[in-house]
Amino acid sequence: MARRKLIAGNWKMNGHLDHLRELHGIEKAARAHPQVDVAICPPATLIAAAVARVPGLAMGAQDCHSADKGAHTGCLAAPMLREAGAQYVIVGHSERRADQGETDEDVCGKAEAAHRHGLMAIVCVGETEEERDESRAEAVVTGQIAGSVPRDASADWLVVAYEPVWAIGTGRVPTLDDVSAMHAAIRSKLAETIGEEAQGVRILYGGSMNGDNAADLLAVPNVDGGLVGGASLSADKFVPIVEAGA
Ligand code: PEP
Repeated sequence: MARRKLIAGNWKMNGHLDHLRELHGIEKAARAHPQVDVAICPPATLIAAAVARVPGLAMGAQDCHSADKGAHTGCLAAPMLREAGAQYVIVGHSERRADQGETDEDVCGKAEAAHRHGLMAIVCVGETEEERDESRAEAVVTGQIAGSVPRDASADWLVVAYEPVWAIGTGRVPTLDDVSAMHAAIRSKLAETIGEEAQGVRILYGGSMNGDNAADLLAVPNVDGGLVGGASLSADKFVPIVEAGA
């Protein structure tokens, strides 16, 4: 099945208003390659300003609460992000699973909230180095899929990102064979979890993707795009990844 590639940038806790200047070059590349979906997930404080500045470029958030409103100081609800102009939301990033102790159940609730409010949910999964060394990577990741993906998910609103924790921000990348094996395992677990819809769900690779390795990673079967951290912070580094996806 043909799946449109998605190249999504995760700015994490980086960037102020002046950083939005980077979006012009990224928007230009997105317009030049309409066969690829491109999105940037800046800090939530910048989403509305980013949308005003480059209305043609899709924006996303980096997390949402599972509830639509309520007594949750400091949290952001999916309808708020939608109102700010977000079209996507990353849920279950390994940094949040580690720093905020988010469980698969939490992540599943967040993905459901995203869907209720018309956001595409990018559900992140990935093993630690220790889990890989102990040959548990596939069991861990498929377990995360089973626990984090809502049973009624469809390709219209679910994206999965496989991000080995040890590859994030380290410059280390799994072998292409390992990426291929994990993406195939994820596709097959998705099929068990949500049935036929699994064939249309995009599975992104994330972890030290850059302009030099993107073309090889994006050519691996079942790799339907990239979730890019560090290299998404500048147009110079991000645009070559968009081009590799085209
Ligand atoms: C990420 O944290 O989502 C990520 C992929 O980071 P980096 O590209 O910097 O490894």
